[in-house]
Amino acid sequence: MLNDCFYLGKTTVEEKAKYLLLNWGHNDELLTEKVGQCASQFGDEIYREVLRCLVGQDFDVKQAQTYWKQALDHRFKVFTGANFNNLLRPALLHFMHEVVGEIGDPRILEAEQLEAIKKASLTDGLTGLYNQTYFKTYLEKVLANSQRGPEKNRFAVLLMDLDCFKQYNDRCGHLAGDKALRTVAEIIQDCIREGDVAARYGGEEFAILLPKVNRQEAYMVADRIRRAIEQASFTQQDLLDRKNLTISGGIAQFPEDGDKVTGLLNRADQQMYQAKEQRNAICPSLVNQRRSHRHSLQSVVELAPADANIFYTGMSFDISQGGISIGSGIDFQMGSTLQLRFRRPFWPVDSQIQGTVR
Ligand code: GH3
Ligand code: MG
Ligand code: MG
Repeated sequence: MLNDCFYLGKTTVEEKAKYLLLNWGHNDELLTEKVGQCASQFGDEIYREVLRCLVGQDFDVKQAQTYWKQALDHRFKVFTGANFNNLLRPALLHFMHEVVGEIGDPRILEAEQLEAIKKASLTDGLTGLYNQTYFKTYLEKVLANSQRGPEKNRFAVLLMDLDCFKQYNDRCGHLAGDKALRTVAEIIQDCIREGDVAARYGGEEFAILLPKVNRQEAYMVADRIRRAIEQASFTQQDLLDRKNLTISGGIAQFPEDGDKVTGLLNRADQQMYQAKEQRNAICPSLVNQRRSHRHSLQSVVELAPADANIFYTGMSFDISQGGISIGSGIDFQMGSTLQLRFRRPFWPVDSQIQGTVR
């Protein structure tokens, strides 16, 4: 009797066939045994479904059962003296094509299985993110497309690596390490947009491709991920010397930092290496890139989009030659123009200026 009869009893014949093929498809002997058991328990329709999966054709149940048995015997005729562990498929194909002429264009159509295998070769088993091979291929494609148009489409590559992860593994155990990697993958997925591509690039290293962003936007995404990981509570992270599991990252920007896969990845890697000097950091950090000194300037201001006359209240923090930093609950779009109003009693005189959100 099939061990899985309880589970299989609740499935359709099609699901039963796929279940048998996925679990025992690698071993002819087991597969034929399980198909036989399934037939005696749940009926002969399983033969039709298994053949449908394997050769992509529909036969009536009796015919399918006959073909199945004949194909099993056919193995011994075509592959004399061979090891029969994995010859059912080619024998079946040969039988259908050469002996009974049921298929003219021999192809093995295990679509579902092929899809699963294809997916497994693109993704990382632990985190479900894409793997390094896929990431590089995808980056290659994006680069080719970005170079084609009259204007180069900008994008950014982030490489991020968990800090002191060896210590985390050593002190908290490998299982906790694996769990942390899965959590980090989820955090990354939550922090990026549809269309961005995240991959597990190596052991505790992640790569992210952000289409159509400039350096500043890329920094904001990287820093959002960094902060989310800093704030997440990983099992037993207080055992770390630093008491907190964190991540560091480097950014490379196309086209400024390179126009080849290796150039961009090397650049991101160098930046990440630099971030590691500090840890829990992103490089290049836009914060460190300020060219002029900032002066504190804490006061109430009013702000509105350029074409509106409803003003919201905000708070100025500091000022430099490059601009004023202002906090407000309103989400103004990057690059849009704002009007700023400074009024008494908070300011010595009433005045108004325009500026760009950066
Ligand atoms: P740094 O801050 O410089 O990045 O130091 P680090 O300890 O993170 O870097 P190092 O390269 O020395 O160690 C990486 C560790 O990541 C080593 C290995 O134990 C761990 N690691 C890699 N892959 C896996 C995995 O799949 N599961 C678990 N649990 N640990 C992994
Ligand atoms: Mg590391
Ligand atoms: Mg590493």
